[in-house]
Amino acid sequence: MRIDVLSLFPEIIENYCQTSILGLALKQNLYQLNTHNPRDYSKDKHHKVDDTPYGGGAGMVLAPQPFLDCLGEVTVMSDNCVTRAPQDPQLQLSKLRSFGTRKPCSRTPQQAPYPETLEIIITSPSGQPLTQELARELSTKKQLVILCGRYEGFDQRIRDKATMEISIGDYVLTGGELAALSIIDATLRHIPGVLGDPQSLEDESFSKLNYLEKLKELQVSKKEMLSFLEETGISREELEELQLLEHPHYTRPADFRGDRVPEVLESGNHKKIFMWRLAEAIKLTRLKRGDLLN
Ligand code: SAM
Repeated sequence: MRIDVLSLFPEIIENYCQTSILGLALKQNLYQLNTHNPRDYSKDKHHKVDDTPYGGGAGMVLAPQPFLDCLGEVTVMSDNCVTRAPQDPQLQLSKLRSFGTRKPCSRTPQQAPYPETLEIIITSPSGQPLTQELARELSTKKQLVILCGRYEGFDQRIRDKATMEISIGDYVLTGGELAALSIIDATLRHIPGVLGDPQSLEDESFSKLNYLEKLKELQVSKKEMLSFLEETGISREELEELQLLEHPHYTRPADFRGDRVPEVLESGNHKKIFMWRLAEAIKLTRLKRGDLLN
């Protein structure tokens, strides 16, 4: 996957992506990161990127020219074509071909402008919420281009060029970099090889799993199943597609200042451990995020 981030503070993005698991994945070429500073594209003699809002009001608005020229410069790759952002109709094929062996895209700006494998994402409090499901979907794309706002946000004409807007929560940050990093981090975890153990993804909060299938695989008896369903208040049908928060974790020592690890976790009985974890996850989800069970 290729990720391009447009930000007035690209070092925030670069520093995070060069650290820990994402840093390792970058070194292993599991994804490519390009940052672009729209200020470098400003045609203003002072490299201004913002201006006062039409109609008055507080704050400054990010102006279309630096962001859209920068976006136009971001080379866009997809499965079977190479194209550029549609606002740059004068694309030079020789430049595009030098990108690789892929065919230049025959789309014109009037046609569907972006390939399905590309998302141009505006970070915004009014975007769709970032969820585990959305992150998984984004991980199937070839390229993400993420625009980070500042000040009062983007001129609408920049927003109009995006394929989606994403919010990381119902609060307002000073800039889109944390949102971009949340999108990048949550997405890259779904790329094979990024996490050491792919099982980690399955066992995590918000994964939608067929637990009935798993219980069957563990050869849970009819009697055990009935008492499990009664204890957890979940139906067989619900078990087939459950989205849960994660169960509690424990590590050594088994006894920390008199506080003991639940006995079942030391039993070595995989079936019992799985059923205990699942029951705890259901309890926790009902307590903290009942909406996930509805
Ligand atoms: N005036 C905007 C509003 O009320 O929606 C807020 C602008 S905010 C101060 C500046 C930038 O931070 C936004 O353009 C966006 O890129 C980013 N941002 C702030 N909160 C965000 C959130 N919850 N999710 C995603 N991006 C956010």
